[in-house]
Amino acid sequence: MKLSRRALTIKPSPIRKLIDTVESLENVLKLHVGEPDFDTPRSIKEAAKKAFDEGYTHYTFTAGIPKLREAIAEKLKQDNRIDADPENEITVTAGGYGALFSAIHAVIDEGDEVLIPEPAWPAYKGFVKLAGGNPIPLPLSPPEYRLNIKLVEERIGERTKMIIINTPNNPTGTVYGEEELRKLAYLALKKGIYILSDEVYEKIIFDDAKHFSIASIPEARNNTISVYSFSKTYAMTGWRIGYVVAPEEVTSAIRTIHSYMISCVSPAIQLAALKALTEPQDYVDYMVNEYRERRDIAFNLLNEIPDVECVKPKGTFYLFPDFSRIERNSLSLAEKLLNEVKVSTIPGAAFGEAGEGHLRISIAASRETIMEAINRIKKFISNSSSSKSPINKPGEL
Ligand code: PLP
Repeated sequence: MKLSRRALTIKPSPIRKLIDTVESLENVLKLHVGEPDFDTPRSIKEAAKKAFDEGYTHYTFTAGIPKLREAIAEKLKQDNRIDADPENEITVTAGGYGALFSAIHAVIDEGDEVLIPEPAWPAYKGFVKLAGGNPIPLPLSPPEYRLNIKLVEERIGERTKMIIINTPNNPTGTVYGEEELRKLAYLALKKGIYILSDEVYEKIIFDDAKHFSIASIPEARNNTISVYSFSKTYAMTGWRIGYVVAPEEVTSAIRTIHSYMISCVSPAIQLAALKALTEPQDYVDYMVNEYRERRDIAFNLLNEIPDVECVKPKGTFYLFPDFSRIERNSLSLAEKLLNEVKVSTIPGAAFGEAGEGHLRISIAASRETIMEAINRIKKFISNSSSSKSPINKPGEL
């Protein structure tokens, strides 16, 4: 018996594989983690318990409970300046994953090309391939990996159907500015392609940075699909709830795909999400403040390591320092750090060729862990460079 061609075209995410290895090791300082280290706020957990006790334990609306969709529409209006109709344009999904899967399947046909500015979260490639499409990497330039509109325009071809944008960005922490996003929106309109805007880190934003949603541009509403999640904002990664906003026709296709995939998101989880959206957001401010403090600690320590260059990220809980002057092969460096000083990171190559030479450092860990782990990296590098055997083997550069 053979597996489907589709199943054979995709591989498990490289990040997943590394995480599985790390989980089986002991005493590792974990800087690879892609989820908040905070617990879900108690009031949200209480809302779920209450909903389960009250019998919200059955199937519910495919598109999501109307009260939740209305609250989402209100949040979109207030926070994102997006006018979305909860009846026809908002769908509650199984996290950002569910939103991305359904959205990509709703518009991508066999052979369609999807531009993915890289470094990028590796799952995008898998979603596109599963839908039969061709992921086309669009390398962005370090150090900030901002959008290069000219380059995007050059890469849009006959078969291009979509571009995937992720701001604030995993892994670079870059927050795209309003001006560059407006330029992209007008380019996509001119070329007649979709923009898939992944905004799951929208609330984890620092300093003077402002999150801008492309779908707030009225002309861009018809070709923009926006993805949001409760995972990162409310430390709810295990609850699996998010939502997708798209024009009516696309939403209708998204809902059909979503219904075949999971029918609906658990109603009790939806009511907990409703609680999260409609109560004071102090705990979000607390978590973001803590990430900011940790970012500063990590940024300062990383920049003390000779030959390492690190941009100060304006969002997310990741830093993406460049180690290429020390070792170009990021997988090899990440393995050495794991085996020799017991610090786990994600090799930049996991985010595409454009990420090579970098490591993704997560600050979803205590300040003590971050300090100890980066000090170990620093010591490892200084020992290796002072010893006779350089970290780079001949041919690796
Ligand atoms: N988008 C990005 C850029 C992510 O990093 C992740 C998770 O790590 C997701 C989407 C999906 O998250 P979730 O399904 O938990 O909402």
